[in-house]
Amino acid sequence: MGFYRGTVLRLDLTRLHASTEPLNAEWARLFVGGKGLLLRYLFDELPPGADALSPENPLILATGPFAGTVAATCSRLAVGCKSPATGTLLDSYVGGSFAPELKFAGYDLVVITGRAPQPVLVRVRDDEVEFVPAEGRYWGLETSALERLVRQEMGPAAKVLSTGPAGESLVPYACLSTDQFHKAGRGGAGAVMVSKNLKAVVVRGTGAVTAGDTPADTAAFTRDVLRLQSTRVLTADNAWTYEEGTPYLMDAVNGSGALPTRNWRTGAFDGTATINSTTLLRIRSKVRACTQCPLACRQVHAFEGYVCEGPEFETLGLCGSNCGISDLAAVAAFNRECDELGLDTMSTGSVVALAMDLCEAGEADYGLRFGDPGAYLEAPRLIAAREGWGAELALGARALAARRGRPDLAVEVKGLEMPAYDPRGTFGMGLGYATSDRGACHMRAFSAGDDILGGDGPADSFAGRARLIVDQQDFSSVAWTGVWCANMALDTDVLGVHFTHLWGRATTHEELMTTGARIWNLGRLLNLREGLRRNDDRLPERILRMPHPDGVAAGKTIGAEAFRESLDEYYRLRGWDAQGVPRRETLERLSLTDAAFRHRAEP
Ligand code: SF4
Repeated sequence: MGFYRGTVLRLDLTRLHASTEPLNAEWARLFVGGKGLLLRYLFDELPPGADALSPENPLILATGPFAGTVAATCSRLAVGCKSPATGTLLDSYVGGSFAPELKFAGYDLVVITGRAPQPVLVRVRDDEVEFVPAEGRYWGLETSALERLVRQEMGPAAKVLSTGPAGESLVPYACLSTDQFHKAGRGGAGAVMVSKNLKAVVVRGTGAVTAGDTPADTAAFTRDVLRLQSTRVLTADNAWTYEEGTPYLMDAVNGSGALPTRNWRTGAFDGTATINSTTLLRIRSKVRACTQCPLACRQVHAFEGYVCEGPEFETLGLCGSNCGISDLAAVAAFNRECDELGLDTMSTGSVVALAMDLCEAGEADYGLRFGDPGAYLEAPRLIAAREGWGAELALGARALAARRGRPDLAVEVKGLEMPAYDPRGTFGMGLGYATSDRGACHMRAFSAGDDILGGDGPADSFAGRARLIVDQQDFSSVAWTGVWCANMALDTDVLGVHFTHLWGRATTHEELMTTGARIWNLGRLLNLREGLRRNDDRLPERILRMPHPDGVAAGKTIGAEAFRESLDEYYRLRGWDAQGVPRRETLERLSLTDAAFRHRAEP
């Protein structure tokens, strides 16, 4: 079985027992790896309606078939479970070097179930698995201290996937960390790990991944993939990654009137000059790369007393402009605190911006003010410890706004705080957020690329957006079986070169997109089973009805009627009924014909 190691590692924390089983080959054929296999296993492992923080919610680590090979950017790990932030499925992705190491240790997937009687850390060295008591040694440590300690014990090549103090407080937007600065950021996987009394999974592997059954197969794959490095990877399309990284988006998004500013009151920030790429390049000390990636987009900056990988664009937007903060050192310090504590910067920045808005509206008195770094810099530690006013902010934007009687001020979808592209400056992103399977996400569909970053799409209309969003969601779903990085310009030609070797036969654009659609529909079935309804495919009131007072998108409103029509069109194109339930013929077309799926479809 080339590319795959053919083995799933099961960690039953309740019994402190490890076992292995063969990877389900039929599922690997239909769902490939990464997101696809993650959702297929999650569908079976998660009892319907289980609480996200209960022992019944599995935490699944899924590699892609190309992790551990030379395929560019395919070193990413998919992490999944039911999300404590949204109650929907969660698939979250992290780069670095953990996924290849897991393959080298001999595993395609790890399925973690139950709850340990005492806090533990799991050590995996090839086929040896140890459950190590965590209390008094690992529990309570911040992410970089934990990694340092584990590497002292297991050697510098050990890879660590861990949760920080915020996870230990079960903050619903606690993330998982690896290689210190790499985060499976969104949706609260850090809290789910802790709900299992698990601090970290550490892996060291000494095996290899072959690209076929014979050395000649591996040589042919390597030759074809390396050829792509010059024609499709190290090209002008991707030059922004190593030249500037994601901060280049600050000026572009601000110039389009789509940069979240002061809790989404407007889409134009007058302080970007001090937190944009030009300013960051002056203090850039080097760039770093994930394993298998020649693009090296990770910008390392030197601040007084410390270095920081980042801040990335989403952090600059949501912890910078959306909090009215134009002091780069303050944004970087906030970023560093979140990294050390294991908090998702996107949700943390959004929640703090909301709290600032509540303070300015007289609904709360946390001492937070837009543009003031004072209490802002205290927020991550108070949230992570659920201490003082941090305990309220730890609830997340939706619950915090509801508690303070101002649900209109929360900017989230399905409970996940919105990324840093304001749909009033790029309407298509609104449809993408509303229909995203894990709550507001900019990665599954990114119409902003068409609308505002050099494409010719209509930024202030839904014309053609439903088709675009469906196609982009299907494409990202198949690309994340790989698991390719969304930072790299990709198409089905590039995927096809890899899949031809994986499947041992030629493939087509249509076949790859059908695979993506199968995975997207599987996610929909899972979400419907967990209680998701059409009303959850929504946009926040502030985004839907309140126009910006200034900037390029000034005066524009999306409007409830235009959004409803666009959602109807999206459902039609998906082959779903008016309530967003996949029709029987849709499931049959996508080979989602197991009895477990069929009865979820309309009668
Ligand atoms: S483009 Fe950046 S984030 Fe993506 S794999 Fe490469 S180094 Fe990692």
